[in-house]
Amino acid sequence: MTGTKKNIMLTPGPTPLPPEVLAALSRPILHHRTEAFGEIFQFVLDAMRRVYMTKNRVLMASASGTGAMESAVVNLLSPGDEALVYSTGAFGDRFAAILKAHGLSPTVISEEWGHAAKADKLAAALKQHQKTKAVFLQQTDTSTGVLNDIKALAAAVRANSDAIVVVDAVSSLAAEEFHMDDWGVDVALTASQKGLMNAPGLAFAAISERAWTLVQSARLPKFYFDWKTYDKSLKARETPYTPAVAMVAAQAEALKLIEKISLKGMWKRTAVLADYTRAWARKNGLELFATDPAHILTGVRLPDGVDGSSMLAEILREEGISIADGQLNLKGKIIRIAHMGYISKPDLDAGFAALEKRLAKVQAA
Ligand code: PMP
Repeated sequence: MTGTKKNIMLTPGPTPLPPEVLAALSRPILHHRTEAFGEIFQFVLDAMRRVYMTKNRVLMASASGTGAMESAVVNLLSPGDEALVYSTGAFGDRFAAILKAHGLSPTVISEEWGHAAKADKLAAALKQHQKTKAVFLQQTDTSTGVLNDIKALAAAVRANSDAIVVVDAVSSLAAEEFHMDDWGVDVALTASQKGLMNAPGLAFAAISERAWTLVQSARLPKFYFDWKTYDKSLKARETPYTPAVAMVAAQAEALKLIEKISLKGMWKRTAVLADYTRAWARKNGLELFATDPAHILTGVRLPDGVDGSSMLAEILREEGISIADGQLNLKGKIIRIAHMGYISKPDLDAGFAALEKRLAKVQAA
């Protein structure tokens, strides 16, 4: 970024990085089969267990969040298995697409974008599909900024089937309240570039013992993402293949910061910024998109006549502030303002000022 532009990111991943994390990314590279790396890697896995609120095993691969999603599919299921996706947006649809790419025919139930998944609807679907092996959910679908009640949804699965519960917490972990063990979640997936305050490139999966029995019998083809291989390497505090070592060191720094603020403190910080953003939207007569809004992200409908895509492009070009557009059929119609991870109130204020300036111009025209 040149000149006086700010380079402020209000996007739901990648997100801005704290200075300690940036500094770790520029340290000399460690070899990944050394004591020094093993120590950092072990800290990251242990700290991730605390962030997930679980005693389960946590595995890490060098990949983005979609890699974590695909790894869950290939490690849990076999050809011909029944799976159920409850989609509340583009990332739920992605789970369905991954399952189909691997030759499965998932049952897909969905809600209109902006609305949360309903536990009674999930229970009814499971009663009809008794052989379902795994249910795939998002805690927050970042395409709309909706928050799904994972506690209630996981309870509905437990009460109505033997299926395991797989949760994509890619955009929510460390930012929204999440209790893997207490809520009965079997597999929880995440990635480094959002609430975890690191650069993109690390994928994590926490896996319950119940899910691990499926892992041992799952027959979908896999190699790089075979969880059993990652699990075997854990004893030596290693990964089977060369990991993104700089990012693991950076993740350790980010996790230390999360522990310093405390997990509850992180959840609170996100919620406070969400309230602040919703109040700004209301003050400016802008309607929230999601009826069940998440704390990580506020989706805001734009007034008729405003071309969101060109407004956001202008804000980036002229002021260096990135704000996310709507996805697919919402492109240009909503904007998505993230307030997760290291995003701060002054960052939001800069974004709000840039938006107000352009919206006022349209309203005056
Ligand atoms: N799931 C959710 C809820 C996400 O927000 C994202 C990223 N926006 C992904 C999955 C996919 O992650 P990635 O882009 O890192 O592959």
